[in-house]
Parts: sequence; structure tokens; C-alpha cells
Amino acid sequence: MKFHMLALGVLSATLLGCGSAENQTKQEVEQPKQQAMVVTANPHATAAGLEVLRAGGSAVDAAIAVESVLSLVEPQSSGLAGGAFMVHYDSETKSLAVYDGRESAPSGATPDMFMLENGDSMPFMQAKTSGLSTGVPGVLAMLSMAHKDQGTLEWSSLFSYASKLANEGFEISPRLHGMLERFGKYIPSKPEDGPTDAFEYFYDEAGVAHPEGYLLKNPEYAKTLEIIAKDPTEFYQGEIAKEIAAMVQQEPRAGSLTAEDIAAYKPVKRTALCQDYRDTQICGAPPPSSWLAVGMIMGILENGPKPSAEGPDDPKNWAVMAQAQQLAYADRDQFIADPNFVDMPIKGMLNKEYLAKRAKLIADKATPLTYAVGDPWAYNDTPSETTAGIDATQDVHGTTHFVIVDSEGDVVSMTATVESIFGTTRMVGGMFLNNQLTDFSFQHHDKEGNPIVNAVAANKRPRSSMSPSIVLDKDGEFLMATGSPGGNNIIAYTVKTMVGVFEWDLEPQAAVDLPNMVARGKTVRLEKGAAPESLISAMKEMGFDVDASRGENSGLSVIMRKPDGTLVGAADKRREGVIGTL
Ligand code: GLU
Repeated sequence: MKFHMLALGVLSATLLGCGSAENQTKQEVEQPKQQAMVVTANPHATAAGLEVLRAGGSAVDAAIAVESVLSLVEPQSSGLAGGAFMVHYDSETKSLAVYDGRESAPSGATPDMFMLENGDSMPFMQAKTSGLSTGVPGVLAMLSMAHKDQGTLEWSSLFSYASKLANEGFEISPRLHGMLERFGKYIPSKPEDGPTDAFEYFYDEAGVAHPEGYLLKNPEYAKTLEIIAKDPTEFYQGEIAKEIAAMVQQEPRAGSLTAEDIAAYKPVKRTALCQDYRDTQICGAPPPSSWLAVGMIMGILENGPKPSAEGPDDPKNWAVMAQAQQLAYADRDQFIADPNFVDMPIKGMLNKEYLAKRAKLIADKATPLTYAVGDPWAYNDTPSETTAGIDATQDVHGTTHFVIVDSEGDVVSMTATVESIFGTTRMVGGMFLNNQLTDFSFQHHDKEGNPIVNAVAANKRPRSSMSPSIVLDKDGEFLMATGSPGGNNIIAYTVKTMVGVFEWDLEPQAAVDLPNMVARGKTVRLEKGAAPESLISAMKEMGFDVDASRGENSGLSVIMRKPDGTLVGAADKRREGVIGTL
């Protein structure tokens, strides 16, 4: 655990009070007071985080309280039976660490696990609601690892907000209710269709979903919290692990996950990847996260056509961002997977010369050159031995992102997920089991016979789009933390926010409010209802294949430090986000 400087701060203030004011250096007097802030996708989660910070907890302590609450109140998006990536900034050492709590496939997983007998891919919803898709949950082990490094309060004290809510009940939010209306049809209501625990939890005896505002209690989850508050290893080695394995092994489409697979899980502490961008460093999680596409896009933009002063009002600026996205997505789709299983041209993908070369492909009109895969291997220090197959990974949305700055200036940027809405829809201990293994490619080779890097394998982690990011200034001080849910679109949503702030000079909230645009492959999606007609038609005139027919479900959270040291937060109006300040 970390000795918290807050305690020292109080002590030195007292000591200073006893001595003369001249003893204080000018710098100490002028140092702006560090605020603390929490931005999450749910008011209860933000309140839980603030409560911990108020008690003198660190950003990591607050993250533990936040995630234990989200698991309860936003179960469609994330939970303790899911996975996560956390990027942590230590203000004292000005260093970053990445905690990888990505789920891993069981030892019995096979490359053809999501294929039908005729070689076709299993329909996505069949795979999602099966036992096959649950990976070993990683988030709790990851939080425990981060707590050992960065926690200041006792582990056992961090679950009280969530326990109280689970015991006394929480009101079903409009978004949670909306999810039941839209996705309830996938929750089995009859045992022959699958385990019915979720149906019993969310529906009344007449089979009607509990309404918005209904006080929902989850005593099972309260019991789980009691166990893990005492000892998180119980989740992995005790009864909970056995119950998870038993649930996964239930029909239909039973999975192979065992209690031994769960006991063997290890979170990984990784080195953050950073990309120079103007006078900042944009940093995030290395593979199996795809954050590096965020770094690539910003690196390409730095070398691409300079944005005009009109910022978001100039369609040409959007056209440049669209092409930078296409260039980066093409490479990430082809090359990124679990680093324990595949060699990747990571250095090449973030190489300045390579990104400058890719940026030259950006034109003043749409061209197919920007959505063709590049050759980052040519810029890597080691060559490729194989030709990577064309990716066939699908990815649906059930994720959350939150950011925390504590009173010492330490920062957490964390994205957590159960993969798609309510994960598998199977429940254990009041938690939804993730369906993260559907983030693997269902096919293991492409039509040309080349191996797909993100194919399923035993003990492998599926590629993730989750891209928690932290931006540092030229002195290595914290500048901004952001990220989003949204499956493959996470990269585009996160980049839009950075472009809004750093390229177009907007305040964080205005950047979050910008229409979302996702340019992956030929089609450029522009957010229905948010993108102005003038932008849509200008993009079409430039030759882009524009699809403005769907909403874009980002859930961006941002904290930015201003030059005077104050913090500014932003939450995405597309979800139920709340900014909390201490
Ligand atoms: N499972 C996805 C991933 O890890 C995230 C899904 C979402 O954002 O909703 O990339």
C-alpha cells in the first residue's frame, strides 16, 4: 500500500502554522490547491468514488468503490465478473502504469469454438448467451493488484457504498430500464432456454420488467461483496469460482471454464504506450488493448494537413480526421491481439516516419488508399514471419469508462466491461458473467488461408477496443484523462474528444458533445441527429460513403487539468454520466 501524502500534507501544514510564514517558499504559497474529481457513467458510482476520496483514499481506492457500485447499478455495462484496463498516473514519480485485467480464455478453449460444423461462424447472439463466451473475470484481481501498489485505505473499507445499495436497493435508472426493453428478449425466461436468474431479478411474476424508479435489491451481490471485502482471492479460489464454473458449464452451449482456470488467473502490470503529439504525450494501454490506434491517429494528425481555424465548423477538418481514423483502424484490425500469442509491429505502428508516410495519403477527397492496410513491419525492429489474415472479429457494446483524480494528483483512467449488454445474461453471486470471448475472431483463418491473429486459443486474451487514455504535458505532468465504451468505436470516440480539445481548441464538454464520427473501412458513420446536414452533405461531396442513419452510443468521461491547476470534467450526455468534485 502507498503512504498517502494527504496525511503528510496535514502534518506539514500544521508544522508550517507553528513556524513563521517566511519559511514558506514562494512556490508553496502560489501552488494552486489540487481539487479532486470523479467522473463516471452513474450518479451512485460518482458518489461512491467521492466518498472514498473524502475519507483520504487514493484514486485507485476510489476506482474500487466505483467499480463495485457499477457492477450493481449499471450491470448492462460492466461488473466484477468482467474485465478492465486501468491506466494510472503517479504524480509523485510522474510515471504511468497499466493494469491489464482482461479476461482470459479457459484452458479448454479451441480455435473453432465459435464455428458451426459447416465452418460458418456461430450467430453472435447464440455465442453471447452461451457458456462458451465467458472468460476468466479479470477486473477484481486487477483492482487488488493496483490496490497493493497504490491503495491508501484498507481494501475491506472500499465496498460499503455498494453493500448498502445492494442490501437496501437502488432505483432502476432510465438507461437500465431502456436496456431491459431493448435487450430483455435475450434474457431466458424458461429453463429450457437457459439459466433464468436474470429474468427473476429484473422481472415481476407476471413477466413484466420492473419499471424505471423501481427499488431493486440484490442480496446475493451483498453476500459476494462481504466475501471479497475480506479477501479478494476468495473470488478466484473459493466457492464463487466454483459457482461461476458450474454456471458456465450449463447448457445450452456449455463452456469449458473450470474452477482451476479461475484460480490460475493473473492480472498483468504493463508499461504504458506513449505517442508524442505536438507538445504533449498521449498514453494508453498496450495490447491486447487497441489503444495504439488512438496513438496512431494522433500521430498521423500531427503529420497531416493542419486544421483550419474553423475547427468543427469546417467539414475539411472532419475529412482529415476521418482519413486518419481509416488509416489506423486498417492496421489495428489486421495486427493487434494478445502479445503472449502473436508478434505485432507495435514499434512500427507508432514509428514517426511510418505515421508521416501514412499521413501523406490524406487527400482533400475520399480515396481507397486510406482504408487499405499499411506495412508497419517495414518500420519495426523485427520482421514478420507470417502474413496476418483479414480480421473477422465482431464486437457489440456493454462497457463503461470512468476517470478519477485524487487530492494528491494521482489519476485513474479505467474502462471496464462485460462485453455486450448484460454479458451472457447468466448470473452468479448477483453478478453478470461476461461474454468477453466473443471479442475473439470466430474464424481462425481468412479466405486466403492466412491465420487471423485474434483467433481463439487456450489461455489467450481477446483483443480489446478499450482505450483508457492519459495525456501528459511536456513536463510529464498530468493534462487530461479520457476514454469511452462503444466496442470498436471506442477508438473513434476517444480520438474525437482529443481532436476537439487539442486540434480544435474546445473545452472538454464541448468536445464530448461533438457529433461522433466512426471511419473504419470505406463507410464513414456520422451520428444521426447530432451531425448537421451541412457536414453530412459536404462529406458526401468530398466523395465519402457517409452513413448518417444510426445513433452513436459513446459514454465519454473526461478530466482535464487547466494551467492554473484546477480540474475541469466532462460527462457524456448520451449516457447517465455525472461529474463529482471534492
Ligand atoms: N468488449 C469490448 C472490448 O473490450 C468493449 C465493448 C464495449 O465497449 O461496449 O473491446
